Amino acid sequence: MPKTPAKITYDCSKCPGYCCSYPRIEVEDRDLARLARHFGLTIEQAERKFTRRYRADGVDERILRHHKDHIYGSICRFFDTDERRCTIYAARPGVCRDYPNGRKCGYYNFIRFERKHQHDPDFIPSA
Ligand code: SF4
Ligand code: SF4
Repeated sequence: MPKTPAKITYDCSKCPGYCCSYPRIEVEDRDLARLARHFGLTIEQAERKFTRRYRADGVDERILRHHKDHIYGSICRFFDTDERRCTIYAARPGVCRDYPNGRKCGYYNFIRFERKHQHDPDFIPSA
C-alpha cells in the first residue's frame, strides 16, 4: 500500500515569519545563480546586492542581507515586512526551501501555545 505523506503541522500564513529573521541564511553558489537569473543580474552583481560574508568562529559563509523589521528587529531583505511574506518565493535559497526540515516547526508550536494561553489569536511572543 502506498505510504500516506506525513501531515504538516504548521501554518506559515499564521506566523509573522520568524525563520526569515535568522541572522545567517546561507546562499550557496546555485542559490546565487538562481537569484541572479531571477533579477536579470550577473552573479557578481547579485552577490554584491543581496549577500554579505559572515566570518566568525571558524565559519565562513555567504549569507542574505537583512533589513529592518518592526517585529524581530531585522529580517531577510526579501521579506515584505507589511505583508509578512517572502517576495522571491520561487527564487528563494535552498535552505529556505528545506526549512523546517520536517512536518513540525518548533516556533509555530511555541506561538500556537502562547496564543492559546494568552487568549489572543494574534499574539506574537518574542522568540
Ligand atoms: S517559523 Fe515556522 S511557521 Fe513561521 S514562517 Fe517559518 S516555517 Fe513557517
Ligand atoms: S529568501 Fe524568502 S524565505 Fe528565504 S529568508 Fe528571505 S524572505 Fe525568507
